[in-house]
Amino acid sequence: MNNTINKSTINNDTSMQAASGKVIIVGSGPAGISAALYLQRSGKVAVTVFSSGSGALEKAGKIENYYGFAEPISGKELHQQGVLNAKRLGVSFIEEEVFAVTYDDRFKPAVQTKNGTYSCDAVLLATGTSRKAPSIPGLRELEGKGVSYCAVCDAFFYTGKDVAVIGSGEYAVHEAQILAPVAASVTILTNGSPLSAELPSGIDLCTEPLSSVNGESGVSSVTLQSGDTIPVSGVFVAIGVAGSTDLARKVGAEINGSYIKVNAQMETSVPALYAAGDCTGGTLQLHKAVHEGAVAASSILRFLF
Ligand SMILES: Cc1cc2nc3c(=O)[nH]c(=O)nc-3n(C[C@H](O)[C@H](O)[C@H](O)COP(=O)(O)OP(=O)(O)OC[C@H]3O[C@@H](n4cnc5c(N)ncnc54)[C@H](O)[C@@H]3O)c2cc1C
Repeated sequence: MNNTINKSTINNDTSMQAASGKVIIVGSGPAGISAALYLQRSGKVAVTVFSSGSGALEKAGKIENYYGFAEPISGKELHQQGVLNAKRLGVSFIEEEVFAVTYDDRFKPAVQTKNGTYSCDAVLLATGTSRKAPSIPGLRELEGKGVSYCAVCDAFFYTGKDVAVIGSGEYAVHEAQILAPVAASVTILTNGSPLSAELPSGIDLCTEPLSSVNGESGVSSVTLQSGDTIPVSGVFVAIGVAGSTDLARKVGAEINGSYIKVNAQMETSVPALYAAGDCTGGTLQLHKAVHEGAVAASSILRFLF
């Protein structure tokens, strides 16, 4: 399915009738919303914000170090106000997890969700900090030696081999589907959680908790709490939703540790791809996320017009 966003579905605000570009923002936190406000008010682009689950702001209890509030405000309320403001200005919102950013042969970007591919002219990643890996003994030690965080990057290395994906949601299924055509077998390991997505045919499922990932110079197996062992040559971590670095890495953008590398204009190393907020590292606070969202918006407008 190709869900190409067209202007008429994005908004009906008269100020947007001259919009001639499409921008997709992944993340409805302070960075994403800040960028959306600047972009939308330019009148030059139609803006769509994708979100999936709560970001850091919605988890913040009381905030009292942000400008403009005489009394502390809850993160949830601040988030709601931000979204309402953007909606009032005509920004479109889609609650779908973005699995990947892609480019067509003319280098036009798009984002992929389970419902389809949404094309646009520029993408801003504002997905907050990367998701943490589970604390399974052996996992960290074997990173880069069979433990991977990116199926599309590393699937090739596991051609004809048995692999596992650790995760229990749509993202884990998506990663498993990338591996399935090349690997000998793919097992989704939910580590004790129920699988919250449909299991595609040809992919195995194990819901038992994990007690270790094993191997010396490379991954050789995983051990379940029951003591049973599943032999695998690769373990792909896909916990929760696709995190910022996962999305950036898949498209070849440079990563700095667990953050996306950007320049002062919030440009990544890939054309038409920008990043802002916690996902770029530094001070993980509201003011910085809002600032970077605004800078990214200006850069995107300069890039497009
Ligand atoms: C408990 C707690 C308390 C805090 N207290 C304060 C404080 O008092 N003051 C302060 O300044 N800062 C505080 N912070 C930090 C502040 O909340 C963050 O710096 C800020 O929210 C970062 O904004 P962001 O837009 O980069 O990311 P986030 O707010 O994390 O938003 C990320 C967004 O990305 C979306 N998303 C992620 N992955 C995907 C995907 N694959 N597809 C679609 N959408 C996706 C999420 O749905 C979410 O909308 C606190 C944080 C926490 C966790």
